[in-house]
Amino acid sequence: MSFKQLGLIEPLLKALKEQGYTEPTPIQKQAIPVILAKKDILAGAQTGTGKTAGFTLPMLQLLSQHKQVGEKPLIRALILTPTRELATQVAESVDVYGKYLPFKSTVIFGGVKINPQLVALKKGVDIVIATPGRLLDHISQKTIDLSKVDFLILDEADRMLDMGFINDIRKVLAILPKNRQNLLFSATFSDEIKKLADTLLNAPKLIEVARPNVSSEQVKQVIHPVDKERKRELLAHLIKEGDWKQVLVFTRTKHGANRLSEQLEKDGITATAIHGNKSQNARTKALADFKAGTVRVLVATDIAARGIDIDQLPHVVNYELPNVPEDYVHRIGRTGRAGNVGEALSLVCIDEKEFLENIEKLIKKDIHKFVVKGFAPDPSIKAEPIVQKRGQQQRGQQSKAPKSHLGPNANQKEPRKKAPSQRGMSHRHRDK
Ligand code: AMP
Repeated sequence: MSFKQLGLIEPLLKALKEQGYTEPTPIQKQAIPVILAKKDILAGAQTGTGKTAGFTLPMLQLLSQHKQVGEKPLIRALILTPTRELATQVAESVDVYGKYLPFKSTVIFGGVKINPQLVALKKGVDIVIATPGRLLDHISQKTIDLSKVDFLILDEADRMLDMGFINDIRKVLAILPKNRQNLLFSATFSDEIKKLADTLLNAPKLIEVARPNVSSEQVKQVIHPVDKERKRELLAHLIKEGDWKQVLVFTRTKHGANRLSEQLEKDGITATAIHGNKSQNARTKALADFKAGTVRVLVATDIAARGIDIDQLPHVVNYELPNVPEDYVHRIGRTGRAGNVGEALSLVCIDEKEFLENIEKLIKKDIHKFVVKGFAPDPSIKAEPIVQKRGQQQRGQQSKAPKSHLGPNANQKEPRKKAPSQRGMSHRHRDK
C-alpha cells in the first residue's frame, strides 16, 4: 500500500517523495486512515516505528481541510511530548512533511529563553509542540491562546507519566475546548495510561504495532563480565580495537555520564555527555556533534537518550545495566534498525548480577557472556549493593528495583526509616 492509497494529499506526497519514503510503515498504514476519518486513537508504538509521520501527516492534512479566516493563524493543533529533544524532533518532522503547506509551528519547552517563544506566539502559529511544564507557564501568564485547539496529540505518554507530568497534563486538558480529536501514543499500556485514555479519548480506535527490534535477530547482544574498576579501560579497549566510529554509551547517573566522557577524552577518544543537567544548547550541540561524527562516543542517561532520533547505530554499550529492566530493551532498540545488524554490549560487574537476572527474565533469554582477554573479573571481589547518591531526584518505581537491594522491609506500606546505606537506592533516579 502506498501513501497515496492511504488518502494523503499531493503536497504531503511531494514532501514524502523528497524524503525518499516509498512505503508507509505498519503504524502509518493503520493510523493515517483512522486519523483522517477524525477518530480518536490509542496507539502502542515506540520511537523507530515511524509514529511521528503517522500522526503528523494526517494532522497536516486535516488542518489544510479547514483554512482559517483572518490573517493571524490561531493554534489548532497541540502536540505534547515528555522531553525537549522529542519536541524538537517532532517540530522538525512538522517542518519537513509540511514543507508544501502554509502552516506555521513553534516549539515550547523550558531551559531556553522565553522571549523567542513569546515572539512566535504573538505572530501566530497553527501548531504548537510543547513539553508540559513550560506550556503551563505560558498558560498561567496568558501568553498562549489554546481556545481554538481541536487536535491534541500526546506523544510518548507513558514517559510523560513516568516523569511526573500527569498533573500538568490534566491542567492543560482542563483548558482545552471539549470538542476535539485526541491521539494518544504510548510504548506501554500501564493502568495509569488506560486511566488517562479513559478520561481523554472518545471511542478510540486501538492501534498496536510490534516493538521494533526488541531483542530481535538484528541486535546481537553480549555481556562482558568485568570488574567495576576496569570498565572504563575495557570500554576504551573495545572502541580502539574495534575502531568504532559511533557508539552510544549508557550510564545510570548524570554524574557518571560526565565523568565517563571526560575520562574517555583523556584516553584519546572523543566523547560528549548528554543528560538533563546540561543546558538545552549544550544538549543540542552534543547530539549534532555525535550525528556529524565529530565525536565518537555519546554518553547518555536513559531519559536524555529517550526520543533522540539517531538511527542505525552500530554499537550501543551499557556501561552500567539499568535497574529497570524495560530500560534495557529501550536502550538496545537504538541499534540494529532498518535492516542493519547492530551490537549491544553490556559491561557487567558482580554488583549488577541481580539487574542482569531481571533483564534476562524480561526478555526471556540468556544473553551470551564473553570475557574479553585480559579483563577477566577477579574472583576474590564480592558483590556490593549499588547505592545511588542521596539527594538525587527519584522516579519512584520501588517495586521494580531488585529485591536484594531493598532489604526485608521493602514491601511494607508505611515508609520506615532506612539505614544510611540503603537510603535512596530503591528507586531509579529522575533525570529531567
Ligand atoms: P519515529 O518512529 O517517528 O521516530 O521515526 C523513526 C525514523 O523513521 C525517522 O528517522 C523517520 O524519518 C523514519 N521514517 C518514518 N516513516 C518512514 C517511512 N515510511 N519510510 C522510511 N523511513 C521512515
